[in-house]
Amino acid sequence: MAVQYVDYRDVDIDGIDAVVVGSGFAGSVVARELADRRDMNVLIIEKRPHIGGNMYDEHDEAGILVHRYGPHIFHTNNQQVFHYLRRFSGWLGYQHCVLADLHGEYMPVPFNLNSMDMAFGPEKAAHLAEKMIERFGEGARVTLSELRGLDDPELAEVADFVYDNVFLYYTQKQWGQTPDEIDPSVTARVPVLLSRDNRYFQDAYQGMPQDGYTVLFEKMLDLPNIQVCLGTEAESVFDLEFASGDEDAPLSAIKLHGKEFTGPIVYTGPLDELFLARFGRLPYRSLDFVYETYDAEHKLPCGTVNYTVSEDYTRITEFKYLTGQVSPKTTIMKEYSRAYEDPDAQIPYYAIINDENRAHYERYRALTDSLPNFYPLGRLAEYRYYNMDKIVELALAKAMEIIEAQGAAAPGQQG
Ligand code: FAD
Ligand code: UDP
Repeated sequence: MAVQYVDYRDVDIDGIDAVVVGSGFAGSVVARELADRRDMNVLIIEKRPHIGGNMYDEHDEAGILVHRYGPHIFHTNNQQVFHYLRRFSGWLGYQHCVLADLHGEYMPVPFNLNSMDMAFGPEKAAHLAEKMIERFGEGARVTLSELRGLDDPELAEVADFVYDNVFLYYTQKQWGQTPDEIDPSVTARVPVLLSRDNRYFQDAYQGMPQDGYTVLFEKMLDLPNIQVCLGTEAESVFDLEFASGDEDAPLSAIKLHGKEFTGPIVYTGPLDELFLARFGRLPYRSLDFVYETYDAEHKLPCGTVNYTVSEDYTRITEFKYLTGQVSPKTTIMKEYSRAYEDPDAQIPYYAIINDENRAHYERYRALTDSLPNFYPLGRLAEYRYYNMDKIVELALAKAMEIIEAQGAAAPGQQG
């Protein structure tokens, strides 16, 4: 067996029970669950020429397995999610480490007690660490906002160092704004660690799919009742009907091949795209990736180096550390963050979280609430900053919700 790729024009929509837009973890997990648990015939519509969403990886010309949409390291504390994904792949234990390049000197990120030694020298660092541990406890995770809110002048020195050397320039490059201007939940993803744990993530389960993410997705979607249309945009095949001609009139039906589709429609793309940006584009940040291959075992000292005080790229990742691949060559990838201005040429990677953008998003979302068989799901459709594990968790829950909503309806009768 293999994934069944079909041309949308050849799809008999009467035989389809559920439609899923997007084949990242959000779309693929729901598709798998509906097909597997309820024997539903699922049609996946994917605009890219491959499955896997942002997790897509492939071998480059040098034979190195590289990620095409940003470096993806799996980490979770959710045992159910990890066990679920183990059904589709073996996993390599991998603990991601990140170093900040401070003008050629490497310092662990998140900023931790080892970073403190480097920043202040062992004696002063010991004193500062003691004060911080007294206040927050050993092993605590202290966010940048918490750190900067302290009234102690000595700890303010730590806060200033971390702000200036870890967050300020990197955040300006990544978001086009200072850490004070962006939502605090974003920098809170990388808290100061009151420990000597040099790992980027502290989750219980961390690793990489043994043969890569694309192979994992191929296994997940390898069922006779899942069909995938690649290179197909939802906007081009969905015929949207609205309750009235008003701009804010809610969605009343979605037609496919000229017929109203009444089965579940799980949509994992950006909502503004679906509605042809009628209320204006939702703001996102995009990225450019630049790859370089070297005749060397390794180029970097660890999986990722963050450029927190210099360079115009944010970080460089060397894939061989992540994947454990052995080769006399190596490929690295530089990430450049960009404003998202051209939906035809760019990919919306990061929702820009703030109250104004949330309200903008909710206006789109309100258009869909009226359609009971329409389910927005995922990092794009929900306009959120979700990691992979959270998406898998939400997708498993969404599949159950859909299955329950389908009730006793016999498979094959929904479409
Ligand atoms: P996506 O993976 O974006 O999938 C959405 C799919 O829908 C895409 O394939 C897209 O082509 C398709 N689509 C969109 N619109 C349409 C349309 N109109 N018609 C048809 N198809 C459409 N998470 C981690 O846990 N660990 C990490 O190390 C990590 N690193 C990351 C690095 C970067 C640079 C980025 C941007 C994200 C990272 N993430 C990481 C987060 C991870 O990428 C997301 O959690 C995950 O991609 C969410 O899955 P999804 O299915 O919601 O979205
Ligand atoms: N960040 C930073 N310096 C770093 C690492 C992170 O300023 O060395 C900030 C930056 O604003 C970034 C956010 O923390 O966008 C979240 O970092 P994370 O590594 O989680 O970002 P992602 O991997 O999702 O791009």
